[in-house]
Amino acid sequence: MQVFTSVLVLSLCFAAFVYSHIKDYKSRKADSMSSIAQVIGANSISAIDFQDNDAVEKTLIDLQKISPEIINATILDTNNHVFESYTKPGMDSFDFSKGAAKKNITFYQSGYLFVYNTIFDNNEKVGTVCFRVELNELAKIKNTQYSISIIILIVGCGLAFLIGLIVQSYISKPLLSLVHIMKEVSKTGEYKRKVSPVGKDEISTLSLVFNDLMSQILESQKRKDEFIGIASHELKTPLTSIKAYLQVIDSIENVQPQKQYVQKALENVNKLQQLIYDLLDVSKIQSGQLHLNVTSFDMDKLIDETIASFQMVSTGHKIIRAGGSLNQVISADRRRIEQVLMNLLSNAIKYSPGKDKVVVHTEKNSGQLVIQVEDFGIGIEKDEYDKIFERFYRTKNNSILISGFGLGLYICRDIMKRHNGKIWVESESGHTSFYFSLPATSVKSGELANVEKVDNM
Ligand code: ADP
Repeated sequence: MQVFTSVLVLSLCFAAFVYSHIKDYKSRKADSMSSIAQVIGANSISAIDFQDNDAVEKTLIDLQKISPEIINATILDTNNHVFESYTKPGMDSFDFSKGAAKKNITFYQSGYLFVYNTIFDNNEKVGTVCFRVELNELAKIKNTQYSISIIILIVGCGLAFLIGLIVQSYISKPLLSLVHIMKEVSKTGEYKRKVSPVGKDEISTLSLVFNDLMSQILESQKRKDEFIGIASHELKTPLTSIKAYLQVIDSIENVQPQKQYVQKALENVNKLQQLIYDLLDVSKIQSGQLHLNVTSFDMDKLIDETIASFQMVSTGHKIIRAGGSLNQVISADRRRIEQVLMNLLSNAIKYSPGKDKVVVHTEKNSGQLVIQVEDFGIGIEKDEYDKIFERFYRTKNNSILISGFGLGLYICRDIMKRHNGKIWVESESGHTSFYFSLPATSVKSGELANVEKVDNM
């Protein structure tokens, strides 16, 4: 852009300069030729009066010595007939009689300068001096001007390009890196990112404003998380009490429809309790307080027990285990791993309405235990594979039809991260599979990421 602007400005400057220089040259040339014509006219008055053609001819020939660019010089009489004429050797003769009606005029035509100057003797016209002047010098001047302009233009462009490069490293580079960070932040939601401002110019001010904005976002997120944490905590105790009373009534009440009402109420209290537990987990993740209670346990046993307890409450879907036993004892937080599996099973059932099965595949692969929960439900678009693991994200195709808060997978991802494991999804042609993998070795508690022996829940 800078180079383009420089080329444009330089070209315009040179065009203006060359135009004014040539115009000035032409006007000076016309003036000087006109003066010569006047002198020749004045010197020829007596020769014309005495019809002395030889004297006029000599004057015209001598003219060549002062101004060799005059290629035709003619003196016309009062009737515009040629009185005497001179043509430079090797040049064409020229008939000036047609232009003789014009008085004292100079003009440029067909690459020549034409001069007509009337000769007066005591205010009486006695003839006209006419010149046709070749403009070789003008052509030379033009060529020189164009060459100089082109050379300066090339040098100017080179300089503009160099300066552009230097300016870019000072202005565009920090600006582009700021834009890059902004894009990353908007994509990843990592508001902890900061830029280090350099210097005291507008870009460094922009960087400071950006950092300030990020701090404000972080602060408001922190306050929101604190509020969620406190609110969920405050709701947990009364809800536990309500649940306990409902369970007591459920155990002693046998009359319908009262028993059915109590069970319905219990069902909804359970859902509410689950949401509160999820919100508490999110709050712990945000504040770095989600700790693991590591024990050693048999993975097959955990999977079978989780499937069995799930099968009891979900009658519509058959939960099938495939892939054989893992025969692996691992060190991990049993309750958290169970939470991940339960979440995936719950989603598999929830998001495959009208289908009748969910399959749990297990395998040991390159030192990893891989557990796959497969359903045949509504599926997930590829561009949402990563987003569903973000907080409060729900896919476009189910957000209205199927209830949920978009917290479960976010918690699962964090639990897997803390176990040095992975969680991911693949969805194609009516099959949706959520996978999670854990190191197959019996890991000592100290080797796990962020592990503490006591879980606060
Ligand atoms: P929730 O189910 O409460 O909305 P999750 O975090 O468990 O929250 O899931 C996030 C989103 O991922 C869900 O809202 C849903 O859109 C999508 N999802 C999860 N599991 C499945 C699945 N098995 N099939 C289709 N979509 C799913």
